[in-house]
Amino acid sequence: MRQISRYVAIILFLGILNAHAAPKLIVYLVYDQLRADTLTLNKAKFLQAKSGTQIGGFNYLMQNGSYYPFAEYEVLSSMTCPGHAIISTGSWPIHMGIAINDWYSRSKKKVEYCVEDSEFGFSPRKLTTTTISDEFKGSDQKSKVFAIALKDRSAIMLGGHKADGAFWFDDKKWGWTTSNYYDKVNSAWLGAQNKKLVPAQPEAGLLKKIWGIQRTVDLAEAVVDQEKLGKTDGTDFLFISFSTHDMAGHMYGPNSEEMKKLIVDEDKELSRFLNTLKGKFNLEKDVLFVLTGDHGIPPTVDYSKKNKVGAEFLNEIQFIGRIYKELNSAYDISDKKDWFKAIQSMHYIVNWDLVNKLKIDRRSFLEKVRSIIKNTGVAEDVIVPELYSKDILMSPRLKRQIENSFIADQWGDVILMPKPYSFPDGEGKKVNHVSGYSYDKMVPLIFVGAGFKKQTFYSKAYIVDIHPTIAAVLGVIPSPKVDGRILHEVLK
Ligand SMILES: [Zn+2]
Repeated sequence: MRQISRYVAIILFLGILNAHAAPKLIVYLVYDQLRADTLTLNKAKFLQAKSGTQIGGFNYLMQNGSYYPFAEYEVLSSMTCPGHAIISTGSWPIHMGIAINDWYSRSKKKVEYCVEDSEFGFSPRKLTTTTISDEFKGSDQKSKVFAIALKDRSAIMLGGHKADGAFWFDDKKWGWTTSNYYDKVNSAWLGAQNKKLVPAQPEAGLLKKIWGIQRTVDLAEAVVDQEKLGKTDGTDFLFISFSTHDMAGHMYGPNSEEMKKLIVDEDKELSRFLNTLKGKFNLEKDVLFVLTGDHGIPPTVDYSKKNKVGAEFLNEIQFIGRIYKELNSAYDISDKKDWFKAIQSMHYIVNWDLVNKLKIDRRSFLEKVRSIIKNTGVAEDVIVPELYSKDILMSPRLKRQIENSFIADQWGDVILMPKPYSFPDGEGKKVNHVSGYSYDKMVPLIFVGAGFKKQTFYSKAYIVDIHPTIAAVLGVIPSPKVDGRILHEVLK
């Protein structure tokens, strides 16, 4: 009898020590292209945090957790693939292996996409480090890990190497899909989920509308049910990225009526999802939420000009033509049109075969290209890694961004950093995120869960800090090449 009561006492004691038991489910909510001011300026239009038994969307999360309205990336090129990889790995590109979405690989002599895989079609194998769920599973902890997004790269980068499943939307086949990399995934329920899609046939533009968000929420709810997430004795991960926000944002710009309406509709969909989880879990005790964005976006050029801000929409084809013309005249050549081998997201890869054939000195050629681009007037800076020196006078912010992002095999010989509010016209987009300026690098960051304070923080927080903070909550060592810090100020 005494023995039994001692056990009871020990169990009670452990219960007190472990007041914030590990969450049953960790849900990452990433909104693609979520500028920091999207939440701060629209909060009056969102559903109330609580209304009767129902909970709201963004306001519920902003008011019930640790909220950094202006968290930051610190990279040279703000983009989807590196953004999602930074969230999951806690490392900058130099340590996780992905600087831009597509790059010209010097070693393979071809353009590569961040999640392409010669064996499986798509995989996370270009990530050169581990993610938060990789580390948790690698610490011998029970966990199921799923990741979803309309965009393959978003789901794959969040899910990491050991995800049980990652699902994305195939707009040609018009349904959710995966790759054989995720060999244990049970696709039977995924097929059933696809049969429920209305319309059943591709319909142009739907992914850019609230329909894309609604179907992402539907799939998230199906994954929770079908895979019984949070219902076993481990801690499961569900990573969700809402790609629609970015697809629409490129088309309309952040200050458009369309985007103002979309965010209100997205709030309702978030509320729908949170209320579904509330019906299945003791939300405040068992579920941990992380909300953030993978990058921001500048205003459109028209909008900036209306506000008397100098801005230029850079037609890249015309721009390159202008550079080639000046190179031709500098080297007294009539019609060379192949000075660059590839142009990827303002990274220019020099055609060194041509430069060598013409017996032009390498260094002087790079200096020539740099001065030509500088003289065009559109560049704030022109970065030439071979000529880069840590000692030269340069903006400390730009220096940090360069050093955080440098990957020799992926970077151009010459990289154009446009002036603020200016950007290139990538694939007919009305507005584009390619820089490390505030509007591209600032996103909200929210943690909601039993171990987190309910407070707004204006102190510095980087997106690389998410991984080590969640690792600390779970009691595991973060990824080997982690760059972030534990955001200890948010922890109770
Ligand atoms: Zn984008």
